[in-house]
Amino acid sequence: MQPAAVTPERSSDIATTVVATMRQLGVVAMPRNYEIFYEALTGSNPELSLAVLDLSKRPTQEDLDKIGRKFFSQNHSTGIVDHVRGVLARELEDIASLLRSERTHIEKYGKILDETSDGLANRGVISKELLEKIVGAVSTATASTIDHGKQVASTLGDKSAELESVKSKLEEYKRLADTDPLTQVWNRRAFDNEIARIYNSNKGILFNALILADIDRFKDINDRYGHPVGDKILKDIADIFQTSVAGGMFVARTGGEEFALIVEGTSEETTFDIAERIRVLIEQTPFVSSQNGASYGTVTVSMGICMASEAIGPEELYSKADRALYRSKVDGRNRVTRHSVMAGRASKNWLIYKKD
Ligand code: GH3
Ligand code: MG
Ligand code: MG
Repeated sequence: MQPAAVTPERSSDIATTVVATMRQLGVVAMPRNYEIFYEALTGSNPELSLAVLDLSKRPTQEDLDKIGRKFFSQNHSTGIVDHVRGVLARELEDIASLLRSERTHIEKYGKILDETSDGLANRGVISKELLEKIVGAVSTATASTIDHGKQVASTLGDKSAELESVKSKLEEYKRLADTDPLTQVWNRRAFDNEIARIYNSNKGILFNALILADIDRFKDINDRYGHPVGDKILKDIADIFQTSVAGGMFVARTGGEEFALIVEGTSEETTFDIAERIRVLIEQTPFVSSQNGASYGTVTVSMGICMASEAIGPEELYSKADRALYRSKVDGRNRVTRHSVMAGRASKNWLIYKKD
């Protein structure tokens, strides 16, 4: 039986069943668990549906991750690496055997030439018939070697195209491994690399800023409207972050409803203005049901800012921005706090020669 197509109405039914099923089984509401149950209930992959049916009444996270690794291998870096390693090993073995056959062929050809020249040297006067025979044998061997060489060259050409495609697949996998599947912004792993990069250059240290953002009272949104609505709001907010700055900036989802933005080449004042603009934009965005237009009310975010120059490394930068974010929460949410101001210090920008 073919599974029914997932229409928007059906997708919302499934989403409701997914949440209820996960709750019944005591499964933690996490995107990767949600993905498993959603796919299992759409019936798009019968084998996955069976694996989920086989789960015990209280599945452990390890049980669920096992299913995730099997059916969503693109989300798991070990699965990705194994896959690419397998393809590369096969391709390289093919090339090696091709080159081995080429070597055997050339050795054979070399042997024919050696034997012929030895024969010619030892015979003194030779008849016209024998000469014709020798020339015939050598020219047949030469033609066959040229032919074989052409074949090898063409197969090697195909192989190099295949290797190119493996390379671009690897790049695609790397992008997947660094991307948050729900919101399509960078994930924590990519963020950790990016924040470490800031401290690799003086320019990075002097002109980069970190903004941490956390959605206010997000648990209430989930409780009131359900997890799928929460997911949709997460996606919309990620889109706002990503499109709000001309020229773009690095946006990552670092946790459930937490995002990190790295702003390049700015002063603290400019960073603060950017954060404020985004904060107001989110506060003024109407979040509504795509099915019936019903409003989900106002959604707000709290933010904390720290300039890279205020910290000695990535960990300190993150923790200072996090403290500023925490202060925004304590002070009433829906606001932006600068670490420098919170720490009772004026901005250190007067120490820095500004960029043109
Ligand atoms: P605060 O203003 O203090 O940040 O309150 P909060 O409710 O936003 O914070 P809290 O940490 O108490 O709750 C965060 C919630 O985010 C709880 C969790 O269920 C939800 N969450 C985490 N990841 C996801 C997700 O991927 N999808 C959805 N829909 N909810 C998520
Ligand atoms: Mg929150
Ligand atoms: Mg949070």
